[in-house]
Amino acid sequence: MESSQHEALLWKPLKDGKVQCRLCAHFCVIVPGERGLCGVRENRDGRLMTLVRDKVAALNLDPVEKKPLYHFFPGTKTLSLGTMGCNLSCTFCQNAGLSQSPRQGKAIRGDRISGAQIVALAQQAHAASISYTYSEPTIFFELVAETARLALKEGLRNIIVSNGFQSPECLEAWGELIHAANIDLKAFRERFYHEQCGARLKPVLENLKAIRGLGWWLEVTTLVIPGLNDDPAELRDMAGFIAQELGPDTPWHLSRFHPDHVLLDRPPTPQATLEMAWDIGKQAGLRYVYLGNIVSAHDGENTFCPDCGAVLLKRMGFAVRNVGLRDGDCSHCGKTLPGRGLEKIPGAGQQ
Ligand code: SF4
Repeated sequence: MESSQHEALLWKPLKDGKVQCRLCAHFCVIVPGERGLCGVRENRDGRLMTLVRDKVAALNLDPVEKKPLYHFFPGTKTLSLGTMGCNLSCTFCQNAGLSQSPRQGKAIRGDRISGAQIVALAQQAHAASISYTYSEPTIFFELVAETARLALKEGLRNIIVSNGFQSPECLEAWGELIHAANIDLKAFRERFYHEQCGARLKPVLENLKAIRGLGWWLEVTTLVIPGLNDDPAELRDMAGFIAQELGPDTPWHLSRFHPDHVLLDRPPTPQATLEMAWDIGKQAGLRYVYLGNIVSAHDGENTFCPDCGAVLLKRMGFAVRNVGLRDGDCSHCGKTLPGRGLEKIPGAGQQ
């Protein structure tokens, strides 16, 4: 049954029963009886309703490294949840069953779980945080806001894993509720966002800068896709933007593409391409560049001290081992590693 409807937040009425959704940078104008581009917000008699306010379609306990967040309470668990739906239509989506079904008019599945129940589950599981992820947290904004507010009161941290295509109003409303974000920077060309994602690059860049201003801990992820966004000049532009506009301490995750959803005609990203992008990131001045979805152990998974070069955190898949951090500082030269909760992991030699 898909008739679960709650009045949405962040919209305004227009003439003739139309409404404008103000939640994401599409700013859909929706006539009565129709839905916005995401397929989960519907104009019902001149009022905007959300169809996913209480429809959690995925709920798991994950390592925080899986988000990926490498400098935010490493080694802790995060209760992760998502509903169906997304405001983007990426051809390479690796979670299309969850994200794209509502846009295709399919049933919106999910379990009715309240924010209070989610917080209780996180506490029972001894999670350090709650992550709003899997599809796109923007389109389940109301559930995020309710849950994050309750989580905050209980001392839990809130994480969003997002495509960064929010409206300024959405980011402002989340403001002090969110502690950390991993935001996709999918490419550095408007054409890519237009043709591959049904979106625009500019709002994402503006939001990344705004998030930096909000004080959330921020990490950025790029899925490197052969032939689409792996041109060295584009990667240099991207790395330069992150280093100059977001700061050289912003971790950049370069993730390996696997053929999925519509984009089945391309090979997985060669390791050499990822390593080329890794070098470009470091040449741009980024101090923490990581490789993800790779098959074998690689230095690109580890955290090194940018001052003395010592390895600080070793990773294998989603497992992390402290080999050089003491109270959040490099045990060799004393440099403080940027992030949150880094002083909480047992120091080098104490495990
Ligand atoms: S969230 Fe975005 S895509 Fe969905 S209705 Fe609102 S403006 Fe449109």
